[in-house]
Order: sequence, then C-alpha cells, then structure tokens
Amino acid sequence: MKILMLSPELTPYAKAGGLGDMVASLSKSLAQAGHDVRIFMPRYGHLRPEETGRLYPDPVAVHLDPRRTLFCRVWTAPFAGGAQVHFLEYDQYFGSGEIYGQRTDHGARFSFQTLAALDFCLQTGWIPDIVHAHDWTAGLAPVVLNTTRRHTPVGRAASVFTIHNLQHQGLVSRDVISFLGLPEYLFTPNNLECLGGVNLMKGALYHATKLTTVSPTYAHEIQTPEYGFGLDPVLRHRWHDLTGIVNGIDLDEWNPAADKFLPAHYTSDDLAGKAACKTALQERLGLARQSYAPVFGVIARLYDQKGLDLLADILPDLLERAHLQVALLGSGDPDLENRFRALAHRFPGKCGVQIGYDNALAHLIEAGSDFFVMPSRFEPCGLNQLYSMRYGTLPIVRATGGLADTVEPWQNGPTRGTGILFSEAQSWELRNAIHQALQLYFDHSDALDVLRRNAMSRDFSWDRSAQAYEAVYREAQFLRQGAFPAR
Ligand code: ADP
Repeated sequence: MKILMLSPELTPYAKAGGLGDMVASLSKSLAQAGHDVRIFMPRYGHLRPEETGRLYPDPVAVHLDPRRTLFCRVWTAPFAGGAQVHFLEYDQYFGSGEIYGQRTDHGARFSFQTLAALDFCLQTGWIPDIVHAHDWTAGLAPVVLNTTRRHTPVGRAASVFTIHNLQHQGLVSRDVISFLGLPEYLFTPNNLECLGGVNLMKGALYHATKLTTVSPTYAHEIQTPEYGFGLDPVLRHRWHDLTGIVNGIDLDEWNPAADKFLPAHYTSDDLAGKAACKTALQERLGLARQSYAPVFGVIARLYDQKGLDLLADILPDLLERAHLQVALLGSGDPDLENRFRALAHRFPGKCGVQIGYDNALAHLIEAGSDFFVMPSRFEPCGLNQLYSMRYGTLPIVRATGGLADTVEPWQNGPTRGTGILFSEAQSWELRNAIHQALQLYFDHSDALDVLRRNAMSRDFSWDRSAQAYEAVYREAQFLRQGAFPAR
C-alpha cells in the first residue's frame, strides 16, 4: 500500500513526546514490511539544512480556494526501513523552530501542512491508498478528503485517524474555515463546529474512514464522559470504527544490551551491568552512591495528565521516613517544576531532579532505576513503562489506558507480573503502591529478580502493532472503495 503519514512530530527530527516515537517506529515497520510509506512533516527552523535531504525542483502550489494559491517548497530525505520523509518548507509557519509553542495560528499552520501534503501528492502523481493522520494537527485531512479534495485523485484514499491524546483537540478560531476556503456547511456541529470555534479533532472523528487509538483500554475510556473531554458522544457514535492498538517500541533505540547512552550493558540473563548504570545515575543526579538504596525513576512532561502532583504530595514524608532515592527528569508546569526543585534542595543525596529535556539522561534513568513511577490520570498508551520493562525497571502505574493493558500486576505465590498497579488517582493509593515496591525490594528480593526477568522478556516489538494497523488500513480501503483491493 501507499501510505501517507501526516504528523507534526517525527523522531529524531522533532519530538515533544511519544507521538514522534510512534510515527517513526510505525513508519519504519510498515516500510520494512514492503509498503511505500511517506511521512509529511514541517521543516522546522531548528532542523539543519543537510538533515532534510534534497529539494523538490518545483514550487508546490497549495490551493486554498479557487482564487487563492500559496507556494511552498518540499524537501525529501530517506527514512528508516526504506520510508521517506517529506519536509514542508514554509517559514512563516515553521521557520521559528517550535513544534507547538505559544502561537495563536496553529489552526492555519497545521491545516496548511495537511493541504500542502495532499496537493504535493497531486502535483507529483504519488497517490496514497491510505492517509494516516495523527492527532489534532492533522485533523483536517479526513474532512477535506470527504469534501474539497473528494473529487480529485487523492479523494480515493481512505483515511485513518489516530487519537494519541484526546485532551488536545485543536480548538481554533472559525476564521480557519474562510482562510482554507472550506465550505461553510462544515461549520456545523456534526462537522467542525465546537463551542463557537473549529475543533479539528472533532472533524476527524466524524470524517475519518477508520479511527484508532493507542490502546484498547483507552479506546473504551474515551467513550465515557470521564475521559471523553466532551467528544465521548462522537466516539460512542463511531465505536464500531474505533480500534485500540498498543504502541510497540523501537527495540534498537531502547536496548539495554547495546544502548549507547549507558556506561554498561546487560541482559535478562546477566543483570550485573544494571548496577553500574545505577551508580552512574546516582553520580549524575547527585544521589548518594548506595547500591542498596532503591531508586525510583520518573521521566515525564510535568502536566496534570501525568499525576506527578500526587508524587510531590507524598515525597516529603516518604523521603523523610523511608529508605529510597528519587531520580526525576521532566519539564512543564512551572509550579510542579518548583515543587520538585524544592524537594531536591531539601533532600540532597536522596532526591535528584533535572528540569529540562535530556534524551541521554532518560536512557540512564530507565536503566539505573529499580522502579519507574507513572501515576497518570489518563494515559492513552504510554511508552516509558514499556521502556522500563525492557530495562528491567519495574513500573508502578495507575491502571488506566495503555498502562493497564501493558503492565501485569505483581502476584506472589508462583511469582507473576511485571510491575505494580493501583486504581484511583489518589496520593494514598500511590503511597501504598510505593510501599509495596519497597517491600518487594527489601523483603522479597527473589521475587524482584523474577519480576525483572518477566518484564524484560515481554514482547513490545512493533511487528504485531504494525500488522494490526495493516488490518485497519485494509478495512478502511474496503469501506472507502466498496471492495477489498487485490493483495
Ligand atoms: P507522552 O507522549 O504523553 O509525553 P509517553 O510515555 O508516551 O508520554 O512518551 C514520552 C516520551 O518522551 C518518552 O520517549 C520519554 O522518554 C520522552 N520524554 C518525556 N519527557 C522527557 C524529558 N524531559 N527528557 C527526555 N525525554 C523525555
């Protein structure tokens, strides 16, 4: 199949969270399986010119409406597995280098990316079978494939829309309708209209041929008012077209046996290198060099979703009374950043905090910690718990979304499980879970070893997930074209 991916993020070029990793790994797997995969993303200002390949010789005309055409340029570079990445150069929108940032023109800039991608396909004659749009920034794609681009060659493409995070919906000014030359009837509640503005995610939920999200549990949760962020009625309406597929991880990038960011390597048969990673982590974050102290790692965007305020609530008491260390990396909400900075200041040697983004340190935390804490209020899939398991670091997670689907709770007796789960987003529940972890660490070290090996042996490769996407693509083609295409 010819598959066009539309995304604002693609690791390693531009990454703000798990979305960039997912689009990269899925594209690579699909290309390796023999599909013709092209990813269309902005050429952000932070990218070095030599990273973005060769320039398409002609200017690309983007038709906003019959009277208005904007011209952009497109660069193309090879991507992993035999895929290709197209970079949209349009400096007014993407020259500054930020992916999201505090701009007010997101509706126009990302919708322009969508139209540019489709018009580039038309201009070059590469017509996709599937347009796979990721999250709200690409939400316009299914809408225009059903409307303004329906009767062009790209209009035969089926659209698949993946919800990576329903909280961010792309609620933008209604001016975008006239700017993009969209018909006014799209500004209605069963299309793009929402609270007096345009909701790009909502448009996609109504128009995409097929919908996916990144775990089966999250697929159920978002159909409820508690997790639906106001769009649960639309998702209930389309439940029969919605599939939950857990993300895989890039096993080359996240591999404790060969990770270039680690001072020592290890496998489930020989965990000795993990101790060296722990020592390196302790040194790196100013923690006391104690091999016997359990280290609890955290890597996250510090926002309400991740529930780390619950951890900040209980840490003063825990760090005072219990024998443990905390290694935290993250950035986000300034109040929460300050709370963690203050804890590091108050508990030197026990609480190490780095505010910011640091991929190398993220790898070291995954390897050097004993436990990994993710008390998310909601978690569509989550990647860090998968990385943790692969690194023999037991995740302590709230049983929601992809966390519930991927972490198996510790059961003693015949020792089973890969981590520790708790159910409500309450600090006392998190405290109990951490106490369980301390018990496991100090009183059941045999079980701890078994759990580590269990976790490391789980299969989180992309192959299975990529096959599930292929199945969705084929169904989408069937629905769009009314017949199964030749295989
Ligand atoms: P989300 O996409 O909601 O942020 P995920 O767990 O799915 O959460 O993915 C987060 C990804 O971003 C992981 O690859 C994680 O290692 C990375 N990450 C998050 N914050 C940081 C940070 N401060 N420094 C380095 N990597 C980070």
